[in-house]
Amino acid sequence: MAPEPQCVDVIVIGGGIAGLAAARDMAKRRLRVALLEARARMGGRIHTQRPDGWPRPVEMGAEFIHVGNADLWRLVRKAQARAVKLPDDHWFSERGGIQRIPDLDRKIGAVTGLIKPAKAGGLSFAAYFHRFPPAVRRDEWMLARSFVEGFEAAPLGSISAKSLAGEAMDEQHQFVVPGGYDQVLGRIVRDCTEGGVSLFSNMIVRTVAWRRGSVRVSATNPVSGLRTGFSARAAVIALPLGVLKARSGLGAVRFSPILRRKRAVIAGMQMGHVVRIAVRFSEEGWRAMLPGRLKRRRPLGFGFIHSTVKGVPVWWSLSDQPIMVGWAGGPAAKALLRVPAATRRRRALASLAEILGKPAAVVRAAVRDMQAWDWTNDPFSRGAYSFTAAGRDEAGAELRRPVRGTLFFAGEATAQGDEVGTTHGALASGRRAAREVVREIGWPRRGGR
Ligand SMILES: Cc1cc2nc3c(=O)[nH]c(=O)nc-3n(C[C@H](O)[C@H](O)[C@H](O)COP(=O)(O)OP(=O)(O)OC[C@H]3O[C@@H](n4cnc5c(N)ncnc54)[C@H](O)[C@@H]3O)c2cc1C
Repeated sequence: MAPEPQCVDVIVIGGGIAGLAAARDMAKRRLRVALLEARARMGGRIHTQRPDGWPRPVEMGAEFIHVGNADLWRLVRKAQARAVKLPDDHWFSERGGIQRIPDLDRKIGAVTGLIKPAKAGGLSFAAYFHRFPPAVRRDEWMLARSFVEGFEAAPLGSISAKSLAGEAMDEQHQFVVPGGYDQVLGRIVRDCTEGGVSLFSNMIVRTVAWRRGSVRVSATNPVSGLRTGFSARAAVIALPLGVLKARSGLGAVRFSPILRRKRAVIAGMQMGHVVRIAVRFSEEGWRAMLPGRLKRRRPLGFGFIHSTVKGVPVWWSLSDQPIMVGWAGGPAAKALLRVPAATRRRRALASLAEILGKPAAVVRAAVRDMQAWDWTNDPFSRGAYSFTAAGRDEAGAELRRPVRGTLFFAGEATAQGDEVGTTHGALASGRRAAREVVREIGWPRRGGR
């Protein structure tokens, strides 16, 4: 006989920052909340590692915090995490020569600022500029393309032009947390436990059986193999878009009855792909490899080098340590993800050698260690982060619409406007879902909490 399900007011599925924010806020409103997370750890795509031999933590997922976003900053302050503002240091490498780009944001904005939402209709970035050829300089066009493919992680022919109108990197307003993004995450996890949320890790949700006002969730522990049931009046689904798209395999969740309209919306939405490789070099290799202009040691490194090389075109150094992070997004990432990890790493180093104008052997000899996470083939994310697909500008709003006052949706793909695909967007989405739940099922008056 199956054991009795654990009974709470609300079940949250997914322990990324969206699910954690939803759980924390609902617990503050005295709801009994159980959060179910498939992995052995909370945080999802916020994932800091501290590998042996590395002088500082290494981010596998989110790294940059953008200015604004009051909720995220409140969390940073509460965590007492030191956030450091990045200098606006950008370089462009072409044919082995490296030039400073003093005005990256303006250059990208020179292109995205040409997008007129009223004319963009359902056009993609590529289709828009095919129809309205941009009168911009070659470098502006190149940088705007690499911004869309790299940082939005989207193919030019798939991303909505409208979603990019006036967008830029906002480089003057970016911060990193040198002590690790997990310091910030740790704070919200503590807020949850102190607020009475029951956090379950190693709990892979398989099915969500629901009807108005009632949800039954079945989950499996991958370590013990045990199945556990949970029941509640409502559930917040804070899963990545890639997981919501999956019909089978580890991580995929079956809804019963099927969410037909949501399925159609989800099918039209798109997940972007990213390859992010952190490389630690030897001191002497670092000196041999870097051109003079980048060699000067500064507390926040040399900044970002952009390029059009195939493979991994963008690299950054944001500390005084011999560490660089390589980044490929969109089509470049997809191509790299098709090859084995060892080949991918070799190609990354070959790209870096080309960018620095050095023989590949010099760069290879300087490497001490490499760290990367394959978010695309990770069954619990199935991609890096979502982008607004052409012709689907309203899909995020449709995805976040609650179902019969019982199923509520959070996560970066449900975020508003340019917050899609970001940590602060995910956090805000969790808070929004919590408000919706409280509005729907009320604010119980329990003694003692
Ligand atoms: C390489 C990379 C770099 C990034 N850089 C930045 C950045 O610099 N700045 C920024 O703002 N954003 C960045 N992002 C995006 C940011 O990390 C995400 O938008 C945000 O963390 C998403 O939070 P979430 O809660 O929506 O999803 P997630 O963090 O993915 O949380 C969803 C959770 O659901 C769990 N789950 C999946 N399936 C199941 C299941 N069946 N049962 C139970 N649980 C399940 C997952 O394990 C996961 O923990 C980056 C992302 C990546 C991948």
